Amino acid sequence: MKKIRVRFAPSPTGPLHLGGVRTALYDYLFAKSQGGDFVLRIEDTDTARFVPGAEDYIQEALEWCGIIPDESPKHGGNYGPYRQSERRHIYDQYIDEILKTDYAYIAFDTPEELDAIRKEFEEKGEVFSYNYQTRTRLRNSVALPKEEVERLLADKTPFVIRFKMPFDRVLQLNDIIRGSFTVNTNALDDKVLVKNDGMPTYHFANIIDDHEMEITHVIRGEEWLPSLGLHTLLYEAMGWEAPQFAHLSLILKPEGKGKLSKRDGAKLGFPVFPLDFHDEATGETFMGYREQGYIPAAFINFLALLGWSPADDQEILSMDEMIAQFDLHKVHKAGARFSKEKAEWFNHEYLQKCTDQEVLELIRNQKNISLASIDTEKLLKVISMLKERVNFPQEIMEQGKYFFEAPNVYDEKAVKKAWNEATPSLLTQLKEEVSNAGENADYKQLIHHIAEKNEVGMGKVMMPLRLALVGELKGPDVPDIISVLGKAETVHRIENALAKLS
Ligand code: GLU
Repeated sequence: MKKIRVRFAPSPTGPLHLGGVRTALYDYLFAKSQGGDFVLRIEDTDTARFVPGAEDYIQEALEWCGIIPDESPKHGGNYGPYRQSERRHIYDQYIDEILKTDYAYIAFDTPEELDAIRKEFEEKGEVFSYNYQTRTRLRNSVALPKEEVERLLADKTPFVIRFKMPFDRVLQLNDIIRGSFTVNTNALDDKVLVKNDGMPTYHFANIIDDHEMEITHVIRGEEWLPSLGLHTLLYEAMGWEAPQFAHLSLILKPEGKGKLSKRDGAKLGFPVFPLDFHDEATGETFMGYREQGYIPAAFINFLALLGWSPADDQEILSMDEMIAQFDLHKVHKAGARFSKEKAEWFNHEYLQKCTDQEVLELIRNQKNISLASIDTEKLLKVISMLKERVNFPQEIMEQGKYFFEAPNVYDEKAVKKAWNEATPSLLTQLKEEVSNAGENADYKQLIHHIAEKNEVGMGKVMMPLRLALVGELKGPDVPDIISVLGKAETVHRIENALAKLS
């Protein structure tokens, strides 16, 4: 049996969008589930849309996700080069070949001429299409006499090569996810295959490369579904066996309508890109999942389930489990609605699986957090205490700020609720007992004792004590807080509160 080979073929025209990462992930999961190869090919034939740094971004993003190509510009491989701009010598022979068939022709129309025709059609309320109806009236090797074509070529007139879409054929097309459907070729136009600089366009380079690289499965975004007819015919024209195709549905906005865009992310407060991206052209910076504190395994788990569900509806899956269970036939036909809450839930779950030391490293990796003045031992205790209360590692630093800094203001509402005229006496007694107690005393028992002695409920002591330690009425159990702060700091904070609030 033929070895399964799947490629991810992004164009370096910007950062990888969430949808692009999911395509790469499904490519990878499918390839690995079949014991196959996963290839990264950079499709950089469109020089006008090339963005410097985009290729590095793509490679770094895939690496962060753990989607490691078997072959790529960086890793090399037996089917290179893996950048289309470096494959021109390969394309040249196939350009000659297709020109010898009846599937391609030379067209001399200038962009200005085509614009003028487009306008003419518009004025008649019609839309111009370069196709079986119009090609015979345009400046190309189908319409012009042979001598005229030869003269134009001899004069070095710039030309493109177009696909000659066959007339009135019903194509039977197959998609692994969507099943089979038909398209009449009369609905398709004569796409440019080779530009006037001799470089193939995406359509032609793509099928040449998929053939040359022995790709068996093309799994890509649904925006390429309308090109499936052309691609299928290109394989026919070249006499090559076509790979199998699967087109993935869109990732939709949270409300369920329309494609998730980078604007939605900025508006609704979630990243749309795997890593931070700074757009040099507009000066905008977009937040990445990595920088937002996502754990890569949580990110890809969440992403995989946007459009696919394993047989038993299990939600938490490692990469290996996903590989074991992935089935292209089970990928959903309908678009998958993005949910910020779900993404955060996944991160929360994965955070619970991390050791305290691993969470510490995640916090350390946050660019805007400095742990220079922080006692690591203490932080590890705080992590273990607060981990279950947060979705993101850095939230531990925000929520647990009082462990490292004594409160100097007290939340007004909390003061009203927790502090009354009996409080100073209760806290003074408590302070005495804490001072006299051993470092590892049972603080809960101690608080209980003060409450009992004064014939008041536990809350009357516990609440103002919490206020003194935290500055508000939040946080884990008070005895646990004391066990991290230590006796001296606890006494100090009670004294502070007594001085400020009595
Ligand atoms: N270069 C195309 C893109 O960026 C690849 C489409 C395909 O996978 O065939 O979307």
